[in-house]
Amino acid sequence: MVTIEKNILIYGVIISTGYGVVTLEGLLIAFISEVFTTQSFSIGLVVNLYQNDTMNLLIGALLLNPENPLDQGSTVHALSSLATITLGDCAIASILDPVGNVIFNSGRINMQYPWAIESPAPGIIDRQSVSEALQTGLIAIDSSIPIGCGQRELIVGDRQTGKTSISIDSILNQKYSTIFTVYTSLGQSSSSILQVFLSLVQKDAIFYLSMLMATASSSAVHQYLCAYSGAALSEFFVITGELPSLLILDDLSRHACAYREIYLLLRRPAGREAYPGEIFFVHSRLLERSAKLSYNLGGGSLTCFPVIETLAGDVSGYISTNIISITDGQIALSADLFLSGILPAIDVGLSVTRVGSIGQWYGMKYVAGFYKLELAQFVELQSFSQFASDLGQESKNRLTKGLRLVEILKQSSRSPISLTRQVGILSLANQKLLKALAIKDVDLFLNLYLDIPSWTLLLIPPNLVAKSIVCCVFKAN
Ligand code: ATP
Ligand code: MG
Repeated sequence: MVTIEKNILIYGVIISTGYGVVTLEGLLIAFISEVFTTQSFSIGLVVNLYQNDTMNLLIGALLLNPENPLDQGSTVHALSSLATITLGDCAIASILDPVGNVIFNSGRINMQYPWAIESPAPGIIDRQSVSEALQTGLIAIDSSIPIGCGQRELIVGDRQTGKTSISIDSILNQKYSTIFTVYTSLGQSSSSILQVFLSLVQKDAIFYLSMLMATASSSAVHQYLCAYSGAALSEFFVITGELPSLLILDDLSRHACAYREIYLLLRRPAGREAYPGEIFFVHSRLLERSAKLSYNLGGGSLTCFPVIETLAGDVSGYISTNIISITDGQIALSADLFLSGILPAIDVGLSVTRVGSIGQWYGMKYVAGFYKLELAQFVELQSFSQFASDLGQESKNRLTKGLRLVEILKQSSRSPISLTRQVGILSLANQKLLKALAIKDVDLFLNLYLDIPSWTLLLIPPNLVAKSIVCCVFKAN
């Protein structure tokens, strides 16, 4: 009798199949992310529980190996366990697919630890406040939108506005820190993933990096799972290595599209913009996993940079507003700034950080305080000056100073700047020294300043160094 009851609970029947998805009946105690097997050794994952018109419990599930054929009426057997991915230290310097198969590895292949793809997010007791800064190496971000370890910071912008470049620069800047990085690429072309990978290899970033990928040609199931597997990989290093870790999800708009595809294949009703009603839950349970853990759990941190692509700069779209409300701030990129050559094209008006400034170094806080006010005044004056035909001398001076500041904040990709150099540059910007330079010469000045070896700045006062560079720039003209 007991056996029959147990069978009802853990056995189910496939009532319909789709492209990589199945609908099941039975499995009365199934839970989200539970794995089941079939007679043909297919492995499935429960993603959706609902009742049909006759109040029968139905289960929408994904197939992790859809190449095994499945027929309607075949039985499935729930394993009462969460889906896992096999991980190990050798995931470092490797490229994995969302189910843990190694696509490229650094020579070691002993993956051995099963790790839940979707583990519950740490609770409040398991967390502590964000207190350490995560340096991205981008002067515009580290000074005015500082990010803390354990924070979730959205990168949002139109296509081709430099979203991936900001992520890559942040990875490159961790070269001399203890932060381990995971780059999750989903829904992008293989060529762009290869480009990212090669640029990281060239800069020796591969030794503290793991990549997970599901290309645009991968199934929706793989694209959906890729984000969760990326979070699992980061968690693995945070918990087993007690290391801080940086997770980049590039990009979550494709993840939402993949889940929409799965949902429509399961014949479930769609909601706003044809996305499933539960899309907020799908993203919130993923992003909630980033945290600064308490010292009892090792004190590691999982910082997350989800990326969202917008259309025509509209950050009020469904998915972007969802993610903005889940994350602790956003870096908004503007296509207009990008086209006018201001790179990184960060829109200071729309960008915000909610917790990061707690961990910002006081030296940076001090020098950034001056320029933030000036930049805000400049942006206001610039829009006003378009209408005014004749400006007063003071306004003209303020505009030139603002233009010089914007020039200082420009930074080419793949060239992160260390914190001390950033503080040096910003303190020079606050002094009268740069006033002598024409706006077009600021770039040359900065390049020369950054080329000077650090030890020189220890021996010779930085102001003297800066003065001699200004003289060099004059001579070059
Ligand atoms: P997509 O929407 O296709 O994913 P994206 O928003 O991720 O694009 P990127 O691929 O990062 O944008 O950048 C687009 C182009 O802009 C690239 O050719 C990149 O080299 C260039 N770019 C981005 N940031 C900078 C920068 N700071 N300096 C110079 N070039 C840059
Ligand atoms: Mg990109």
